[in-house]
Amino acid sequence: MSSKLKILVPVKRVIDFAIKPRINKAQTGVETKGVKFSINPFCDIALEESIRIREAHKGLVEKIHAVSIGPTKAQDILRTALAKGADSTTLIDVGDEEVEPLTVAKLLQKTVEKEDSNLVILGKQAIDDDSNQTGQMLAGLLNWPQATNASKVEIDGDNITVTREIDGGSDTLRAKLPMIVTTDLRLNEPRYASLPNIMKAKKKPLEKLKVSDLGIELSKRLETLKVEEPPQREAGVKVESVDELISKLKELKAI
Ligand code: AMP
Repeated sequence: MSSKLKILVPVKRVIDFAIKPRINKAQTGVETKGVKFSINPFCDIALEESIRIREAHKGLVEKIHAVSIGPTKAQDILRTALAKGADSTTLIDVGDEEVEPLTVAKLLQKTVEKEDSNLVILGKQAIDDDSNQTGQMLAGLLNWPQATNASKVEIDGDNITVTREIDGGSDTLRAKLPMIVTTDLRLNEPRYASLPNIMKAKKKPLEKLKVSDLGIELSKRLETLKVEEPPQREAGVKVESVDELISKLKELKAI
């Protein structure tokens, strides 16, 4: 008999992907004042995949629990997760504190234990700091198998088969539960929450915890020295013919 799935979906509140980020004056990160925040796109894909697994395998999924580590305002993305199909959520409130991937992974490990999760589906990276580390660190802490950058997830009993996007092709892995999967862009296209579901989500559970409730300390190992814009690219020139291209390249001593 196959185990029921208790899926944990960690979701991060980040600057909306449609906004062009600007570096703050202190050059310590991106400017966050007056900017729209949303659920990290890869986390949205992770949530969508969990909901699709529930829809495709009737009775297999016992619960989908979403968790976010962030400011009190991260409640908004948890409400969105509830409206889309999560059953319950936890906010681990860290105020305005930036939390490093290892600390996030430790908090997620505690949440896995608390929620008795046997499958964690995360984004492959958060688009604000592009760390691409949390899923891997969580797999290490839990000593669970992991498949990163998933473009397809198939469930057959306790076996999970994941197709991974790799340079110039794909890699197919199979592992048994419990397992960690991180999502790539082509895994699925997330749904929008409908208005009735947004209303219903207001009554669904949203637990609020502090870091100390989980016995973890917010320690820092990394120091951001400087965040800079990429150098401005010079405008190109259009050439009319191959001969002109060759002479231009010679002029620039490129050939
Ligand atoms: P990262 O390793 O920071 O690029 O993030 C990879 C994934 O880890 C994200 O897509 C989320 O699923 C999860 N994650 C990272 N930071 C947080 C956070 N503060 N709260 C919840 N999930 C997070």
